Amino acid sequence: MNDAVTRPAPDDETGLRHLIFTSRIGDLIQWSRRNSLWPMPLGLACCAIEMMAVVAPRYDLARFGAEAMRFTPRQCDLMIVAGTLTKKMAGPARKVYDQMPNPKWVIAMGACASSGGMYGTYSTVQGCDSVFPVDVYIPGCPPRPEALLHGILRIQRQIAAGEPSAAERAERARGVTGSPEHAA
Ligand code: SF4
Repeated sequence: MNDAVTRPAPDDETGLRHLIFTSRIGDLIQWSRRNSLWPMPLGLACCAIEMMAVVAPRYDLARFGAEAMRFTPRQCDLMIVAGTLTKKMAGPARKVYDQMPNPKWVIAMGACASSGGMYGTYSTVQGCDSVFPVDVYIPGCPPRPEALLHGILRIQRQIAAGEPSAAERAERARGVTGSPEHAA
């Protein structure tokens, strides 16, 4: 088990110590949340090919419980922006983000998603954090699948530590109350 769950005292003579674990409900929610991330793949350009690789057998995202990529924003909690976000696409991307329930996290995968990359043009968004809050930026053009895995593990550590997401920090800054477990 992990650090969030504690075993009974070792002097338990009943043998139940092998069957019963105790924890706090908040720790249990964090533990289950971090180990069942549900990605919303926003594959916009070449970085999406590297994103697809993380669910293939070589990188096997299933090891971390986050392989259920579905195009169903109302069930997703982790948006992965993989590729060049054009201004024409910014509106639909924001709509998908808004459809995702709280709490939610966002990864900007690659130079284009993080900063516009080499496309300093009139048609390209110069960083998707101008459209929605971003938790993790992954450098590279394209980043390797290992880099995306590292980003997902970074999100998992953030959840385990009880750190508020970028969305929650943005809502607090606007004076909107975040999810109850992160309300200070
Ligand atoms: S960062 Fe590079 S690989 Fe990724 S979408 Fe932009 S140009 Fe393509």
